[in-house]
Amino acid sequence: MTDFSQTDIKFLAGVGPKKAEILNKEINVFSVEDLLYYFPYKYIDRSRIYFINEIDGNMPYIQLKGTIEAFETFGEGYKKRLVGHFTDGTGFIDLVWFQGVKFIEDKYKLNLPYIIFGKPTVFGNKFNIVHPDIDPYISEDERPTGLMPYYNTTENMKNHYLNSKTMQKIMAAAFSSAIKNLPETLPEKVLREAGLMELKRAIRNIHFPGNAALLRQAQYRLKFEELFYIQLNILGYASGRKNKIKGFVFTKVGGYLTTFYEQNLPFTLTDAQKRIIREIRQDMATGKQMNRLLQGDVGSGKTLVALMLMLIALDNGFQAAMMTPTEILATQHYHTIKDLLAGMGVNVELLTGSTKKSDRKRIHGALLTNDLHILIGTHALIEDTVQFCNLGLVIIDEQHRFGVAQRAKLWTKNTNPPHVLVMTATPIPRTLAMTVYGDLDVSIIDELPPGRKPIRTIHQYDKKRGSLYESIRKQLQEGRQIYMVYPLIEGSEKLDLKNLEEGFENIREIFPEYTVCKVHGKMKSKEKETEMRRFIKNEAQIMVSTTVIEVGVNVPNASVMVIESAQRFGLSQLHQLRGRVGRGADQSYCVLVTPYELSADSRKRIKIMEESNDGFEIAEADLKLRGPGDLDGTQQSGIPFNLRIANLARDGEIVQCARDAAQKILDEDPLMEKPGNLVLRRQLHKLGGSKYNWGQIS
Ligand code: ADP
Ligand code: MG
Repeated sequence: MTDFSQTDIKFLAGVGPKKAEILNKEINVFSVEDLLYYFPYKYIDRSRIYFINEIDGNMPYIQLKGTIEAFETFGEGYKKRLVGHFTDGTGFIDLVWFQGVKFIEDKYKLNLPYIIFGKPTVFGNKFNIVHPDIDPYISEDERPTGLMPYYNTTENMKNHYLNSKTMQKIMAAAFSSAIKNLPETLPEKVLREAGLMELKRAIRNIHFPGNAALLRQAQYRLKFEELFYIQLNILGYASGRKNKIKGFVFTKVGGYLTTFYEQNLPFTLTDAQKRIIREIRQDMATGKQMNRLLQGDVGSGKTLVALMLMLIALDNGFQAAMMTPTEILATQHYHTIKDLLAGMGVNVELLTGSTKKSDRKRIHGALLTNDLHILIGTHALIEDTVQFCNLGLVIIDEQHRFGVAQRAKLWTKNTNPPHVLVMTATPIPRTLAMTVYGDLDVSIIDELPPGRKPIRTIHQYDKKRGSLYESIRKQLQEGRQIYMVYPLIEGSEKLDLKNLEEGFENIREIFPEYTVCKVHGKMKSKEKETEMRRFIKNEAQIMVSTTVIEVGVNVPNASVMVIESAQRFGLSQLHQLRGRVGRGADQSYCVLVTPYELSADSRKRIKIMEESNDGFEIAEADLKLRGPGDLDGTQQSGIPFNLRIANLARDGEIVQCARDAAQKILDEDPLMEKPGNLVLRRQLHKLGGSKYNWGQIS
């Protein structure tokens, strides 16, 4: 039997080789099946027909029924326009065309009933609709539906007459040729238990909705399916890994941890820190390899937790490594950890891109003989030349900057993979966590160290910076330090934003009695480090920087974070930057400086920042505001694939249901061997192809 769903679209009525090529190139559609999975991005309700005398100036797209009484042309050449005087008996409206004048005049006949669709605008004293859609009138029973689908089309598609309307026609041809041969892609049992519409009906209703309720069901089914296979893949991968791979067993409680706890620990652990350490310790003693995500708000004390876990590895005779996204952060962790371990005889080294060759050689040698206990560094850690003698635990700090492929590279560092703990810089929304880190167990630090005063966040207009400088001076006089963050290093002709170099000069003039240092991405790492050190040691009181100081940097004496052109930053970024202050016992401030003119979204972001200090809450708001369009496939979110129909910002509940359904299948039939489940293996295999980069999800 021919599988029509796999037929090349060029054989489809109304397509042909030329259009097929455009569809291949522009929207990655090759087969009829690809086309059927190219879903509309919106629907407009065309069930209601309006009367002309109801029209007011603020209407969205509307539909009218009536006749064209006369055509009239105005102007000449490219200024030529055609006006059709249209009436439905309640009044008149002008239909206006600037292009295709001759074609329109020939095609539409006077005094025949038409359905007009478009957005009314006011011109002069009259209403008109520019370039309306026109269809011959058909009675309500014959019209297929009130909901009209709209397809995304590119400029190049439109140039080849592939607009939303032709897409609809092609879709109808695809549907009738292939629908019979479209096999169901979910097991019967899943359909039944989750109350899902069958695939054929869902495909029909997504393109040609019978009514709003059927459309909703179709959308639900297709979203569910999309998320279900992602979950099945992640969970299948995780359970395969758990069953196949042996983990190191850390059961000993030895000298390092005990000594540290009794002699070096600088403060009492919070209850949350204690709980997490217990939880992770148990996990590392089970004989399974740990893969865990540690979520905790900025400043919740993740570094200390990481250190104590590394000591557990050492106590069991293993080495530990900690990987960070930036050199600044690696260097800082290195110093912090070295200080915390003073006098304990633990050997700690730092390895980054700028480590000298001779040092590098020494480190490589020491790693192989177990003389080196803890290695801290950047990507340099995962280079092939870096080999460990017995790496037992890897901590990845501020994960979202690390590709999953890089994470996987760690595994080849030993015959047995080490335990892996991923720590996130900023909390991530649940749905995102389930999708991006779906294979990881999750621990959450839900408590900040005691005595912290919540940071006060203030929105300040550019023009009123005089009072800002006064407040800064007060803080400086009390011995505190200040961060000032800029979106750009140098001035830009295109962007009207504050820049660091100018800011640096200004600030030096305004505060001549204090020392100002600066850090940005274009500086050499040695310079960056020197400047960073000056600030840490309070040799400089004001740090002017770009977002390179965003993650992890810890200077508890700093009490003010000023963010210039704050409208330019995303919520997670603002929260991350704000987290650089409020790390000591003093009242800290975050000042968001913006111009008067702000977009509605920027205003919302700033308001959320003023109202909330809770990273989890902010992460949810961020996902909602940015929406999936910005999130999908971007580095920010770490999602390595694009979703076709599901929306992680809005479909949280479906993610959960799909995950539960996938887990249930794996519990009952781990290898998906039951006859009813064979379809799952077939689909996973198929999806393993080009559309989703499944290989990257681990
Ligand atoms: P993050 O979770 O953002 O990585 P850090 O590990 O940098 O946070 O910790 C933030 C600050 O809190 C550091 O100055 C650290 O020394 C301090 N800290 C960590 N744990 C505690 C604790 N239990 N009590 C008091 N201060 C703590
Ligand atoms: Mg940190």
